[in-house]
Amino acid sequence: MQAREVIEKFRKTGALLEGHFVLSSGLHSTRYLQCALVLQYAAEAEEFGRAIAEYFRGDNIQLVASPAIGGIVIGHEVARSLGARFIWTERENGIMTLRRGFSLSPGERALVVEDVVTTGGSTRETIATLRSGGADVIAAASIIDRSSGKAEVGVPRIALATLDVPTFDPSFCEPCKRGQPAIKPGSGEGQ
Ligand SMILES: [Zn+2]
Repeated sequence: MQAREVIEKFRKTGALLEGHFVLSSGLHSTRYLQCALVLQYAAEAEEFGRAIAEYFRGDNIQLVASPAIGGIVIGHEVARSLGARFIWTERENGIMTLRRGFSLSPGERALVVEDVVTTGGSTRETIATLRSGGADVIAAASIIDRSSGKAEVGVPRIALATLDVPTFDPSFCEPCKRGQPAIKPGSGEGQ
């Protein structure tokens, strides 16, 4: 799947908007990215999952793991396509952990999947959680890379598309200077 096809699916479903936005952080941006809006369409999620899986067909991946909540839908689709098991990590008192009775086998070959990598923080924490349980983390993947390829997670990492989402302090925001009103899209987890 070509990066421009990925971006086109995001635009078509309103998961990527262009304009002038106030993000949940209070920062302003000329782009708004909300992966849940494309992943709500199961057929698109399946296609992204298969496209990510193609990179790892020969790697004997036994387990796909994703940080909750954002990674769950796409991670599940990647696991389905690879015939692997799927689990997720979640924060408990701020620490990324495995709950719900999920367990790991020593040496289990794992792939970590997220919807969007921005700094790589959640992926790194998920890798650490898996390693502490004895799994062998082979690689990491996401649909979108917002880091311009810079996020280092300690294992090889791929993304279906790279997308810059510039953010600005409102006092340094060009659209604000032009008097263009800022929109607060959706509610909650905008990235
Ligand atoms: Zn602004």
